Amino acid sequence: MKVGDQMHEMAITEGILKIAFDYADQNHSTKINKITLKIGEMSGVEIEALNLAFEVLTKNTIAENAELIINRVPIVGECNKCKKTFHIDHYNFFCPECDGILILKSGRELQVESLDLS
Ligand SMILES: [Zn+2]
Repeated sequence: MKVGDQMHEMAITEGILKIAFDYADQNHSTKINKITLKIGEMSGVEIEALNLAFEVLTKNTIAENAELIINRVPIVGECNKCKKTFHIDHYNFFCPECDGILILKSGRELQVESLDLS
């Protein structure tokens, strides 16, 4: 993996850390122990690159050595005809049971789920 490939994850991590640092500030916290993220399988985020960006960007900050927990959210769609929900594999948005189309219900999440401060 080249450094240039990680620009996307660097930007995402900066956004996440800004939220975490602001929250720590508001709570007069001086240390972030754990950051839990919710990341959809369709968000386009490379977990490996995100972990690396996190390690680099937290150096010498109150989040240094913080644990990064990533909860992946599967891609789920609801059929516009039979209304059943299915896990979407290989970006196949056609209903496996009828000729309907699966409307995306989850899988694009990219958010901070919780923060553990001390
Ligand atoms: Zn269907």
